[in-house]
Amino acid sequence: MEQIVSTALEGNATYEDYLALPIPESYRGAVVLKEEAGMFEGLATKDKDPGKSLHLRDVPTPAPGPGEALIAVMASSVNYNTVWSAIFEPLPTFAFLERYARSQPSAARHNQPFHVLGSDLSGVVLRTGPGVRKWRPGDRVVAHCLSVELESADGHDDTMLDPDQRIWGYETNYGGLAELALVKANQLMPKPRHLTWEEAACSGLVNSTAYRQLVSRNGAGMKQGDTVLIWGAAGGLGSYATQLALNGGATPVCVVSDEHKADLVRAMGAELVINRAEEDYRFWKDEATPDPREWKRFGSRIRELTGGDDPDIVLEHPGRETFGASVYVTRRGGTIVTCASTSGYRHEYDNRYLWMALKRIVGSHFANYREAWEANRLVAKGLIHPVLSTVHQLADTGEAAREVHDNRHSGKVGVLCLAPREGLGVEDPELRERHAAAINRFRIPC
Ligand code: NAP
Repeated sequence: MEQIVSTALEGNATYEDYLALPIPESYRGAVVLKEEAGMFEGLATKDKDPGKSLHLRDVPTPAPGPGEALIAVMASSVNYNTVWSAIFEPLPTFAFLERYARSQPSAARHNQPFHVLGSDLSGVVLRTGPGVRKWRPGDRVVAHCLSVELESADGHDDTMLDPDQRIWGYETNYGGLAELALVKANQLMPKPRHLTWEEAACSGLVNSTAYRQLVSRNGAGMKQGDTVLIWGAAGGLGSYATQLALNGGATPVCVVSDEHKADLVRAMGAELVINRAEEDYRFWKDEATPDPREWKRFGSRIRELTGGDDPDIVLEHPGRETFGASVYVTRRGGTIVTCASTSGYRHEYDNRYLWMALKRIVGSHFANYREAWEANRLVAKGLIHPVLSTVHQLADTGEAAREVHDNRHSGKVGVLCLAPREGLGVEDPELRERHAAAINRFRIPC
């Protein structure tokens, strides 16, 4: 592995240098274990500790098959799906691996007693499988997490509609929280040249998701002048959604839960901020009874901030806790676009506020390759910046995931894989210099 690291850190290594590198038979990855899938039974979600279920283990190196690539992973990041996998909720991910393995003989190797997690990476292509023409050893890349087969007609307008669509590192094995990773070549995108390895690795999943949800015609199709309510505006999705709204001429109304996070969204340029903890919204009287008076109080606060405008778009992901309020506050004809249900997936809302006011609820999930590419292009041009709070070593992935589970982070939590320290990997110092102020401003440690 040392040879791979030194070659990747050497700026001038050639295609031939990479081809000459021996591929190790095994590598270290952050895994959950099938035999431990029941370890948290009976515990409340908040008490399930990813630090106990995530282990650093040696796993055998998979050879890239047709259309695949083996990547030397320099850095990765924790996503919320890492947390779901590590607390085995809503169900252990081994069921996904078993289903994938049954779908085709070449996928059988994904079904293992371990699951290497991770749906983001920055790194260097080490080997490509048969049929890969666009990428070759030595290319510096980031990977998005959409894995598709495209054998069915259904996915050919929008690859997210492929019935065989999977999230790499969550519904497949050999993910990015590891020294090596196996991806499909059509997950690869150029690494933004002005970013360090850890900065480049943190945007892929959340930036692409927020881009589809907010900007794409497949999502809310945001336009200039729109008012956009963003839940968790300093979190993974939210910190990119806030930038996308500002960058696209919209006005974000940012909901956060403390002043530290309020400072982060203000540093991005957001002016309208609601501290939900300070203002103590209680959208539920008890576990089963929503409180519409609290929806109204929240709506009034939004109008007070916007000068009377209701949100054209609500970026939803907290789910049960907030969904009723989100439907209520959206403007007539507006869109609630949802990609998750962190607080519970059985939502309740008053349908009169939806149909009478001609609102739409749009379901959104990750992004197709085109959308992920466009989202990455914004990062590569310095129009959207990485938002990293802390960076951990691969061996500390459990602590990194715990930070996200406990909502102690802002933006993303990074993980160094083969990169020996932070700050390496910048190829375009001039472009970095141009954006250094913003990159540093968004780097607010917790
Ligand atoms: P994150 O970094 O933890 O940020 C989420 C933010 O939401 C938190 O920082 C918190 O901000 C806010 N929040 C959490 N619970 C809340 C509640 N009950 N009420 C109001 N606000 C709440 O996570 P993320 O990466 O943004 O992901 C958020 C969710 O989206 C997760 O469930 C994740 O699995 C899902 N997701 C789905 C996709 C997809 O493709 N479908 C992609 C990415 C993420 P404050 O405390 O500051 O308010």
